[in-house]
Amino acid sequence: MAPKEPLLLTPGPLTTSLTTKQAMLRDWGSRDSEFIAMNARVRARLVEIAGGVGTHVAVPVQGSGTFAVEAMLGTFLPRDGKLLVLVNGAYGKRMVKMLQIMRRAHVALETPEDTPPAPQDVARKLSGDPTITHVVVVHCETTSGVLNPVREIADVVAKAGRRLLIDAMSAFGAIPSDAHDVAFDALAASSNKCLEGAPGFGFVICRRAALEACAGNAHSLSLDLHDQWANMEKTRQWRFTPPTHVIAAFDQALNEYAAEGGLAGRGARYRRNCQVLVDGMRALGFKTLLPDALQAPIIVTFHTPQDPRFEFEKFYDMLRLRGYVIYPGKLTVADSFRIGCIGRLSEADMRGALAAIRDALGELGVTKLSPKAA
Ligand SMILES: *Cc1c(COP(=O)(O)O)cnc(C)c1O
Repeated sequence: MAPKEPLLLTPGPLTTSLTTKQAMLRDWGSRDSEFIAMNARVRARLVEIAGGVGTHVAVPVQGSGTFAVEAMLGTFLPRDGKLLVLVNGAYGKRMVKMLQIMRRAHVALETPEDTPPAPQDVARKLSGDPTITHVVVVHCETTSGVLNPVREIADVVAKAGRRLLIDAMSAFGAIPSDAHDVAFDALAASSNKCLEGAPGFGFVICRRAALEACAGNAHSLSLDLHDQWANMEKTRQWRFTPPTHVIAAFDQALNEYAAEGGLAGRGARYRRNCQVLVDGMRALGFKTLLPDALQAPIIVTFHTPQDPRFEFEKFYDMLRLRGYVIYPGKLTVADSFRIGCIGRLSEADMRGALAAIRDALGELGVTKLSPKAA
């Protein structure tokens, strides 16, 4: 029995609740006092989720998550600073590209997509290059689903007297990176990942004292978080047209997040989804790219089976017909595909997806599920 609307088992856009979608059925004026109160409430709740009450502020920015990451790098890295980028996937590589375009000094420490950066390698890099001022790490590299050791890296960066930036896009709200235990100047995420709002804006949790020192750093007007923040504090409004419907949906999504028990509840549901998925796929004969210890409960990469009858496009279409949308792989280390665990998905939805996968394999006549030789 296919769900009415396909479920998105992807890295985003993600499935949202009906009530979150319904919150968008109204047009708001940007100067409307109700809208202004809603915007302030959303920003305050983001700071609470980040564990940064009193020390941090939330600065939203229009666009997808990438816009927030680019705004974070451009605002927090001084023009004469130098950024160490920890790369183990497409999102780390994308940041390197941003820095090339911005013409800011940077250096990458790259590990394979199935390998997190080692904190001692970061320490060595920092002691070997005193010109590095900042480090940026991706919390969950959604390219593979690998969990990077953000807390240990934060300790190494703090000990070396440098500043940390985090792309926590696919982790924020489900995997802890509390400002009390992880020292960061800025952490970027978006409306449509673990917080299950509609896509349309990103936000950066900023240590207020660090942000105050960022005036004039940005390379771009629309991506200047200092200017966005200073204006929002002064006028309580966005500088340019706000994504009003998406903010209203996000306000509702945050109500549902709180009702689920916040980070503990949301994290537990995603871990259950992930466990059901991984156990079920392994029972069918699939192999995960990552060992369980490195797997974040966000998205799982599976090796493409060696059976020549397994054609991803056909497999994808069969699952889509049954109501489940999965995602191709984006790895250089292995031929693969991905199935996400986040968004408004339950354990029952994961079991439904597994049943659809079993059907599709039968229909394709796939029997040899072990990975293709590398
Ligand atoms: C989703 C994601 C982003 C942002 O991607 P957009 O497509 O711009 O929303 C950035 N980093 C990571 C790790 C992500 O998972």
